[in-house]
Amino acid sequence: MISIIIAQILITSSLAAPLLEESFVKMKEESGSSLDFELGEYFEGDMLLMSRQKKAVLAAEKNRNGLIDGVKRWPERTVVYQIEEDDFDEEQVKIIEAAMEDIANKSCIKFRPKEKDEHAVLIKGSADGCFSNVGYSSASEENDEVKQVLNLSKGCFRHGTVVHEMLHTLGFYHMQSTYNRDEFVKIIWENIKAGKEYNFAKYTNDTVTDFGVAYDYNSVMHYPEKAFSKNGNKTIIPLQDDVKIGQRVGMSESDIIKLNKMYCESER
Ligand SMILES: [Zn+2]
Repeated sequence: MISIIIAQILITSSLAAPLLEESFVKMKEESGSSLDFELGEYFEGDMLLMSRQKKAVLAAEKNRNGLIDGVKRWPERTVVYQIEEDDFDEEQVKIIEAAMEDIANKSCIKFRPKEKDEHAVLIKGSADGCFSNVGYSSASEENDEVKQVLNLSKGCFRHGTVVHEMLHTLGFYHMQSTYNRDEFVKIIWENIKAGKEYNFAKYTNDTVTDFGVAYDYNSVMHYPEKAFSKNGNKTIIPLQDDVKIGQRVGMSESDIIKLNKMYCESER
């Protein structure tokens, strides 16, 4: 499955390059939402899942199993990366590096460039949209061809969006997928584009851990209120007054706490 997805990305990227500018403008005009680049064709818009993870997510809706085991942490709390320099200008590379620095400064996580023949996340910009694999997704798990990517096209270059994608790379899912989300938000199913309902799947307590941290409207991993809207009306309504969802400024306090609980308090 993942190889099919990768193949699609490769096909898209070769076709999409000359169209990038145009489609960027077009998407902006049509939607009015600046997060559209995240809300793409992948699982929940921007997550590439290994087939094992996908099975766990889909099974999670019926059975109680999965995702906690389905997400792999990066060994030694270190993300090894390779930036496809040809895809980015200097300013964009700076934004990518600033996002890494921000995460590193607020946690025990380290980032280092790929040095030898080793597993690394390829940070590229040739495909349309912002998307990433979820967690450490090494080739040996399913087949030798698997490569882990974090794609950032032109519309992805704001600090919070890059951080959002990097948190997927580190193993985080979306805030509104969490098991108790119905206590905090109402999903308006009739406003969701046909066929996009799966983006609003809810996982169980066993599958996604919140690390004991309360639901956070302010999480950089929360969808905006009109995500996947077919009619410009809201698809997610917070059940609390005076809160905003979908910020892409940067990690919230809770995001930082969760990241630290996931990586920095364990033995690994
Ligand atoms: Zn996402």
